[in-house]
Amino acid sequence: MAREIDCEAKECLHNGLGKCTASIIQVRGGATYSRKKTYCNTHTDKTDSFMITAIEHMKGNADYGVGDGAAYETAGPLTEFPATPISCTAIKCRHNQNYLCSAKDIQMNRSARGVSCGTFDA
Ligand code: SF4
Ligand code: SF4
Repeated sequence: MAREIDCEAKECLHNGLGKCTASIIQVRGGATYSRKKTYCNTHTDKTDSFMITAIEHMKGNADYGVGDGAAYETAGPLTEFPATPISCTAIKCRHNQNYLCSAKDIQMNRSARGVSCGTFDA
């Protein structure tokens, strides 16, 4: 089964009925040990028309996904199931494998910093 990303951010452009529909997401967190200090860097407010336009351009850009996400292409074990690639800098999380998330499914929650990863586990 494909990876599922449940997400509480209903205002996000990529949220469809509580599921993330983005083709790739980026989670940030650095060296934190707190799940509340992780955040989704792909979050885009639906009301921000400028950003919506920018995202549409990105989807049509061959370079989209290059960078952190490009490493996913060579991450053999993570391709055992069709998954939405998740690049992640929260290196203290046990699901983090070389800046890629190896969790089958994740839960994204509201937090003071925006949308945090509830599946974070240090
Ligand atoms: S906040 Fe992040 S995980 Fe949630 S729907 Fe938006 S892009 Fe997906
Ligand atoms: S579960 Fe861990 S590795 Fe995966 S996105 Fe959340 S914080 Fe990052």
